[in-house]
Amino acid sequence: MKIGLISDLHSNREALNAVLEHLRDQEVDKIYCLGDVVGYGPEPEFCVDVVRGHAELCLMGNHDDALFRSAADFNPHARGAIEYTRTRMQPKWYSSGEKKERWSWLEKLPLSHQEGRFLFVHGSPRDPVREYVLPTDGYLNPEKLRSIFDSFEGVALAGHTHHPGIHDEALRFHGLDGEDSCTMELPSDEKFFVNVGSVGQPRDGDNRACYAILEPDAVTWHRVPYDYRETMNKILATRELSELLARRLQVGK
Ligand code: ZN
Repeated sequence: MKIGLISDLHSNREALNAVLEHLRDQEVDKIYCLGDVVGYGPEPEFCVDVVRGHAELCLMGNHDDALFRSAADFNPHARGAIEYTRTRMQPKWYSSGEKKERWSWLEKLPLSHQEGRFLFVHGSPRDPVREYVLPTDGYLNPEKLRSIFDSFEGVALAGHTHHPGIHDEALRFHGLDGEDSCTMELPSDEKFFVNVGSVGQPRDGDNRACYAILEPDAVTWHRVPYDYRETMNKILATRELSELLARRLQVGK
């Protein structure tokens, strides 16, 4: 079993294309998407169609979910992008079948998926869509992280923070170190919380797209350079999208 794990694509066509290209050489059996296909970026329909075409499973992310409710709890930049995405994608009665199918696919995304000892979510095992498990939780918020570890068995895998890495049972976080790829073992008698990182808006200071490959006893992250300037230019050319959303692609923060 070898599963390609993509998450937090955020309507970034260039990053998604680069990651799929990279995945082509990895001989994965299937691809799972851990949510946030849309939001922040300029090309939501493209990303939805690619995920529908390539991923065997796609979970609900908080940005996907926000299309169907109020985004009042989002910051103004994120909320503006949700409104832009909703305006583009929400079908009217006279819209094409294609547009209606995309919308209802997004609306029906599942919240979590269990497979053997692996639990897949967007955010956290106890609040699969919204809760953040931060790299700093081990020392700033150990009770929260302990309670999260108590809420699952085996290995939980998530996205949401856009910060790739792994928490072990001792609540230590191991992030990536600027490598092109990085493998960590997942011994079968231990618990882990794995963050697969973000394809379309990395925030760990490395602006390359990030995804992971899961094998029965190891996880490997890959960093993939992409033409972020192209994505930035598309964001800057879109009045409804804040320029801050373009700039953060350059710095990876
Ligand atoms: Zn996200």
